[in-house]
Amino acid sequence: MYYIKSGDRLQCLLCPHHCTIKKDAAGICGVRRNNNGILISENYALLSAINFDPIEKKPLYHFFPGSVILSLGSIGCNMRCKCCQNWQISQAGISEFNYGKSYPPEEILRLAKSKAGNIGVAYTYNEPTVWYEYMLDTARLVHEAGMKNCMVTNGYISEEPLNELMEYMDAFNIDLKAFNDHFYKTQTGASLEPVKETLQLLAKNNKHLEITNLVIPTLNDDEKEFTGMVAWIAKELGEKTVLHLSRYHPMYKLDIRATGSDLLEKFYNLATERLSHVFVGNISIKNYQDTKCPNCGKTVIRRTGYFIENDGIIKSGNCRYCGEPIAVSS
Ligand code: SF4
Ligand code: SF4
Repeated sequence: MYYIKSGDRLQCLLCPHHCTIKKDAAGICGVRRNNNGILISENYALLSAINFDPIEKKPLYHFFPGSVILSLGSIGCNMRCKCCQNWQISQAGISEFNYGKSYPPEEILRLAKSKAGNIGVAYTYNEPTVWYEYMLDTARLVHEAGMKNCMVTNGYISEEPLNELMEYMDAFNIDLKAFNDHFYKTQTGASLEPVKETLQLLAKNNKHLEITNLVIPTLNDDEKEFTGMVAWIAKELGEKTVLHLSRYHPMYKLDIRATGSDLLEKFYNLATERLSHVFVGNISIKNYQDTKCPNCGKTVIRRTGYFIENDGIIKSGNCRYCGEPIAVSS
């Protein structure tokens, strides 16, 4: 899907790279190949991982808190993040991976229905955009069965395929890796603007949206840049947009020291000046994983690891203590 022909070359339009692909070659993601003038999705129905995960692990904190979601990953990615924690699958080519059986969408739906309490399917682990056709086919089936679909993504996808996907996708967690294009160019091989456009499109369509920002010392820890990003989120996406600040650990090609808790606490305090729901992850700092009522400030969802107590929100979705509506989907 989403490509045009130009002589014996193809141009893939699925993501903003718009790769021009020669015969027998693959695009930047490594999994979309020009096979005699037809663009093939090589990883269709091939899984690198499949697990029933707590929804909090995605992370999605305000989408059916405390539920379980069948989580799928494949291989490939349209970014080249130097600190990718899943680089073994995101940077792999089809020939480097030893798959077991393939999982047609119908099999995923059967598995999703097989576990009590499972709310649907999450497309995650590597970059699901480069698995587009399989994700779309599966999401359609899952949606028609009355279950939920979630996408955990870098947000680097073209507008038209995103619009088509949105019909079936209920919730998104998008990485906003930094708020400067230089970071995107040098650390990920992509660019910032298309990610901002994805976020704006999702917000405009009232999709459940949470953002993850991995805070890396010296690379994206400039205070002015961070407050600029938070102000943009508040203005363009809404003050109730959930922001996860995630602790970086040395990984893959990056050996900068791990993020200190003092920096995460400082950014948490800066972000909460503009946003109602900010969390700190990949590190345990007391109370920084809890949801607080934006009006009275009382804790309405308490999280300890993936264990949650959400007795502060009544059935109508309002704060038990002051009646304020809490932006939680359930
Ligand atoms: S999805 Fe892959 S092949 Fe298509 S434009 Fe993006 S990186 Fe290139
Ligand atoms: S976008 Fe995500 S999966 Fe892809 S390289 Fe970056 S961190 Fe890894």
